[in-house]
Amino acid sequence: MTPPTIGVLALQGDTAEHRAVLDGLGARTAEVLAPEHLDTVDALVLPGGESTTMGKLAVRYGLVEPLRARIAAGMPAFGTCAGMILLSDRVVGAAADQTTVGGIDMTVRRNAFGRQTESFETCVAVDGIGEQPFDAVFIRAPWVDSVGPEASVLGRLPAEDGPGRIIAVRQGGLMATSFHPELTGDARVHRLFVDIAKGHS
Ligand code: GLN
Repeated sequence: MTPPTIGVLALQGDTAEHRAVLDGLGARTAEVLAPEHLDTVDALVLPGGESTTMGKLAVRYGLVEPLRARIAAGMPAFGTCAGMILLSDRVVGAAADQTTVGGIDMTVRRNAFGRQTESFETCVAVDGIGEQPFDAVFIRAPWVDSVGPEASVLGRLPAEDGPGRIIAVRQGGLMATSFHPELTGDARVHRLFVDIAKGHS
């Protein structure tokens, strides 16, 4: 079977790292920088970076409506960190003029861990990638305050008391993580997305 072509939104952020992981899994990858590039991909990764900047550039390059249309038509998409914010239906702490794409029925809180916690690394369990915990890197990350009925939680931060913060979510073909799975050499989260893109998961 022909592998799916997975686009990586290349407006800003860590595009190359995502492509490297996806290439390693045998997926075909392509940069998406313009509406016509979207026509050539079967699925899309929205990388981490800065969601306000990505939103502005998406407006400038005429990508916002084409992205919304493809997502509404069922294109699988995977957002990490800033990409998670772009895929969220509701954002707490958004900049006044922040543009998002939406698609996942969730409320995301930008820069949720505060200024003291610019970045940290911790092990998390993620549904669908096997038992072994995933070494997750968080960089000025959002967390998910809540998911609506359409979305389901794939992972939470460990917590002493009660359920931990939601950091991974799925809604049909759409997936999002607060952390950066492209940075730690473990391809299991990307493999889950490639399986979703192939219609296998
Ligand atoms: N804090 C960034 C934002 O709000 C996200 C950071 C990241 O993607 N690593 O867009």
